[in-house]
Amino acid sequence: MKVAICSSEIYPFAKTGGLADVAGALPKALTGLGVETCVVMPLYKAVNRAKWGLKKTGKTVSAKMDGRDVEAAIWEAILPGAAGGAGSPGAGRPAAARAFFAEVPKYYDRDVLYGTPKGDLPDNAERFIYFSKIIPEILMAMDFQPDVIHANDWQTGLVALYLKTLYAGDPFFRDTGTLFTVHNLGYQGKFWALDWHLVGLGPEYFNPEGLEFYGDINILKGGLVYSDIIDTVSRTYSKEIQTPEFGYGLEGVLRKRAADLYGIVNGIDYDEWNPETDKHLYRNYGIGDSRGKQANKKALKEELHLAAGNKALFGIISRLADQKGLDLIAGAIDEMMGLNLQVVVLGTGEEKYHKLLTDVARKHPKSISVNLAFDAKLAARIYAASDVFMMPSRYEPCGLGQLISLRYGTIPLARKTGGLADTVKNYSPKTGRGNGFVFTDYSPKAFLKAVKAALSAYEDKIGWKNLVLAAMKEDNSWDKSAREYVKLYVKAAEAARERQEKAA
Ligand code: ADP
Repeated sequence: MKVAICSSEIYPFAKTGGLADVAGALPKALTGLGVETCVVMPLYKAVNRAKWGLKKTGKTVSAKMDGRDVEAAIWEAILPGAAGGAGSPGAGRPAAARAFFAEVPKYYDRDVLYGTPKGDLPDNAERFIYFSKIIPEILMAMDFQPDVIHANDWQTGLVALYLKTLYAGDPFFRDTGTLFTVHNLGYQGKFWALDWHLVGLGPEYFNPEGLEFYGDINILKGGLVYSDIIDTVSRTYSKEIQTPEFGYGLEGVLRKRAADLYGIVNGIDYDEWNPETDKHLYRNYGIGDSRGKQANKKALKEELHLAAGNKALFGIISRLADQKGLDLIAGAIDEMMGLNLQVVVLGTGEEKYHKLLTDVARKHPKSISVNLAFDAKLAARIYAASDVFMMPSRYEPCGLGQLISLRYGTIPLARKTGGLADTVKNYSPKTGRGNGFVFTDYSPKAFLKAVKAALSAYEDKIGWKNLVLAAMKEDNSWDKSAREYVKLYVKAAEAARERQEKAA
């Protein structure tokens, strides 16, 4: 089985959020299962070519944009850590996942991947329609003939359609099936109809059965309509998106494809997220080493100038966007500052939240530390140092923060939605069951009630110790989920074969 995973961001090369984590970790897990995997992404300015050993292949490919050829130089590296064969000589496993990069300076040599707090880059339609178009060319040039192309989110939403149109009848992709994963339905790649010339296909694809969405072009919809199999990153979210509340207008399209729509919960990379080896921590610690965790809490408080002592520390690491429940935090933060706790925030996003959080921090400098940055090192330290990790999301396709927290012995406080509903179960002090604090209503009141439940559980030192112990023992690695993905790849490849048989 050969799988090409295409994504607009892949950890460790470039990351803005969970998509990169998935696109970096899944190939490693697949390689371990004997699946030959490659990944394809744009070569952004942010990719450290020397650090990751990127090499120019000398190969150049091109795709037409507006009738003109736009060239991409292909670079190659090995996805770090994805050395499948190690330790299993003769097992016939692929050696490692190859990573291919499209170098197109005019599109990708920018300071940001997609946009700034002020908004998206103005040519995102062109940048990513091009990326979808060039992927098949890169695979051919690198002679990676996939059984399945696995595309992710709107930035690669047109790959399946291009296979069915521009590459229809091309023997290289004759047996290639397509899987499309939706990591967040809230980001659809919607552009005005005047951009249709960039897509480069006939008007027969610009209608409500195709890419049209209320007069606009909707790239994500292209992925949903034309891919053989589709899935999203948790079972609950796969159901939610078929309803108007979560479907962002695409619920009808999704319902139509319900028979081909799956939900597989993400794992986390257990090599990357491991408190025993994480080099960012003040001190490494393993299961049962509550002193080690305490040492991290003490050191972080010192670093961030929070008052010393053993108040419960509530962490949040998040894009500062409405989706993440920041308005709930905004509505509750004043009251929270009156409780026996401290808060540490790490995130970037919308300006209104930057301002609000900065104001609160100015008022309560010893109780809340606000860090408006994207900072992997500080993130790791917060995961380790916090007692509780807050994810009050309005919606959450999967969420990784809660899984990382559990591994670091930090108890998630989450709203019951999407992947959070699948992975965080409310703790009962009576039975000892559950691994977090869960609330349902999207209101500051319900959120605060969960905060208070967490605080009261924290008071019970023995109960809390057991809760932390059980959290750290959970298995949320990629292994199980990667096996589920292999099943979807088999289905996608079967769909391609059936298509061939019908056409013959
Ligand atoms: P998203 O919707 O942003 O993809 P996820 O929970 O799926 O949310 O994944 C978020 C990932 O990004 C996690 O690995 C989290 O630790 C990381 N992250 C988010 N914000 C920051 C930040 N400001 N600095 C460092 N890492 C961050």
